[in-house]
Amino acid sequence: MSLEALCQRCALCCDGNLFATVPLRADEVEAVRRHGLVVLERAAGPVMSQPCAGLQAESCTLYPDRPAPCRSYACMLYAALAEGEVGLADALAVVAEARARLIAVASALPGDGPALVRARAAARDGHLSPETHALVVRASEFLERRFRGHTRR
Ligand code: SF4
Ligand code: SF4
Repeated sequence: MSLEALCQRCALCCDGNLFATVPLRADEVEAVRRHGLVVLERAAGPVMSQPCAGLQAESCTLYPDRPAPCRSYACMLYAALAEGEVGLADALAVVAEARARLIAVASALPGDGPALVRARAAARDGHLSPETHALVVRASEFLERRFRGHTRR
């Protein structure tokens, strides 16, 4: 229940801030398309892009059919809570800190959508100021250290 409570207040692994895509097995493509989600064909295989269109109000709308990488993924914070190394209140405080750092990035950029997705687009277009870049580094470093670690989807 604590794990569910954490993920329902987080969703960083579905909203484009931790990952740009989710890889799919060939036999998962049909189920994903049945839920109305777009599948992109890449050289390495099919992927769903993120932010995931299956994410509604921080819940997965295709939960029983979610792809294998979504089923198996556990970020470092999730693992720490599962192992009892951190309590729910402290884990939620980490999520709040991550959100605060992402909001600082988002506030410095035009448009809407996930902060780091917008930051990647701004960097691609050469529109990322040094000040905003520093905010992006501050947010990315926190996500790397508290969530992503060496684990990839
Ligand atoms: S990033 Fe971790 S805590 Fe957040 S929703 Fe994903 S698995 Fe749960
Ligand atoms: S399918 Fe569900 S668990 Fe997977 S990225 Fe989309 S919202 Fe998240």
